[in-house]
Amino acid sequence: MTLPVANEWYTSKKIDDHTTLILEPHVHVLEQANMFLVEGSARDMILDTGMGIVPLKPFLDTLRADPDKDIICVSSHTHIDHIGCVHEFETRLVHPAEADEMAKPSGLSSLYRDDMPARLLQIFLDAGYPPIDELLINAVPYEGYDPKSYVLRGAPATGLLNEGDVVDLGDHTYTVLHLPGHSPGGIGLFEDATGVLFGADAIYDGPLIYDGPGMSVPDYIKTFEKLKALEVSVVHGGHDPSFGPDRMHQIIAHYEAIWRG
Ligand SMILES: [Zn+2]
Ligand SMILES: [Zn+2]
Repeated sequence: MTLPVANEWYTSKKIDDHTTLILEPHVHVLEQANMFLVEGSARDMILDTGMGIVPLKPFLDTLRADPDKDIICVSSHTHIDHIGCVHEFETRLVHPAEADEMAKPSGLSSLYRDDMPARLLQIFLDAGYPPIDELLINAVPYEGYDPKSYVLRGAPATGLLNEGDVVDLGDHTYTVLHLPGHSPGGIGLFEDATGVLFGADAIYDGPLIYDGPGMSVPDYIKTFEKLKALEVSVVHGGHDPSFGPDRMHQIIAHYEAIWRG
């Protein structure tokens, strides 16, 4: 199969005066995660780093007002679509429950559908994602790129984020929420002053995944209780477009109804 060469691997869209959404449009939607660059007065943050097919930091530096400013990398969790470029950053933060996995990823490390565990693929299809062709990408980043050369590298954490910790960017500060259910060490970031929630894969406006390895519906139910108690103004999820509090409560109610059976 010959794939076209992508003009640009990453796209960016400013979602408020200090936050930029970054996507990999040539990655299949089921592994196309949202990355958020948040620029602060003291330091910048990148929340999640995509698949790792193409270096991310050089692209971020073209977006940042001050590319010399410190940037910290926060991994919301360690699935393949969220930690691909973590090794490019000097400061790497993750929840302790997934620190080992980030240091040495043990899950999917391939762009080929046939390398995905059949059960995982079925979970994605059952959740409502479209089927994938042979590859998770529909273009290559440059002429001569060999999809077989892809590996998910990971990198050891340089610090840990627990429930209640604060990620301080200067003029913006985010409280860490431990949100297990989709993964054991999943975290979200909540800014009390503005009600902005980065929900990662705990909550987004698309098919939620709760039935795979490391996942737990009882944990997810508790995570939703935590989210329901927040005064949220906007949710930036780990996938799909952002949404407001009414939609958040609708999504939660939808899955709670499924789990009640
Ligand atoms: Zn994801
Ligand atoms: Zn995930």
